[in-house]
Amino acid sequence: MPCFETPERAAIVHDALRRRGDELRVPDRDSTSYLGRVHAPAYLAFLETAWARWLSLDTANAERQPFPSVWPVRTLRADVEPDNFIAQLGLYSFDNGTPISAGTWRAAKQAADAAVSAVARLGAGEAGVFSAGRPPGHHAGRDFMGGYCFLNHAAVAAEALRDTGCRRVAILDVDYHHGNGTQSLFYDRADVLFVSIHGDPRSEYPFYLGHADEIGVGAGAGFNLNLPLPAGSSVADWFSALDTALARIAAFRPEALVVSLGLDTYAGDPISRFALQSEDFRRLGRCLRHQRLPTAFILEGGYAVAALGANAASVIDGFEEPVSGGRP
Ligand code: ZN
Repeated sequence: MPCFETPERAAIVHDALRRRGDELRVPDRDSTSYLGRVHAPAYLAFLETAWARWLSLDTANAERQPFPSVWPVRTLRADVEPDNFIAQLGLYSFDNGTPISAGTWRAAKQAADAAVSAVARLGAGEAGVFSAGRPPGHHAGRDFMGGYCFLNHAAVAAEALRDTGCRRVAILDVDYHHGNGTQSLFYDRADVLFVSIHGDPRSEYPFYLGHADEIGVGAGAGFNLNLPLPAGSSVADWFSALDTALARIAAFRPEALVVSLGLDTYAGDPISRFALQSEDFRRLGRCLRHQRLPTAFILEGGYAVAALGANAASVIDGFEEPVSGGRP
């Protein structure tokens, strides 16, 4: 069965942006130092070499992808890396739906480079930038992959923004699925606010994080806001949650905004159950522009591939509308 997350997704978004007349740039910054801050060294080393090691086990592996079959769940030890490749894969994964292929490291690394490059242009005075890479990143944590995600590009963008002198950075995750990786990376920090609107994890992936009572810990207490909505929620309920999210972000007084732009809230998405239409994404873009913050969009999920380009372009169309004084 083919993976829902395909290279075609990025190409379709790029084509839609080109049709808008946007100038597309290739990454011109290296994300290595930020990846070292966001992810564990052993995890990065594993990811970078995983495909070569898989091939070294059996040349026939070139035609198949490795999947974990065992995980260090409760009472098992995650602090000793086993020698066995499949056991390592389980150590560094929380699901078996995140297949590694020949180009995985290169694609994920380039998407991280793109996030850093985009943030650099924000620093140069752009109001908004869009890092349209794939695979997505918001499910990836400090030392684990999952949900098609390997490297957390939104976290990399937030760290890069902190480096440009932003004292407070807000991350708004609007993907249908809770950004468990991003939440966990900033859970004990007060300088990066994480706010997420997503399908209730009682019924929706990633199931084990994303509840409303997760508010942060230590210095980060009060700097994590989850707004889970039941699967099947209306567009009106979604925008009501967005109002709540944006009010919390405004109260935080951030100096920049990172948007984990999942487009799988679209009514036609094959693996999600919200009801947004293409024109609703324009409204989302408008609402975000009204925050008057330097904004870095990072492409996350969205699996109705035929509509993905139009929906991404709609967000940018809305963001580029002139800002008036009234409500968007
Ligand atoms: Zn998603």
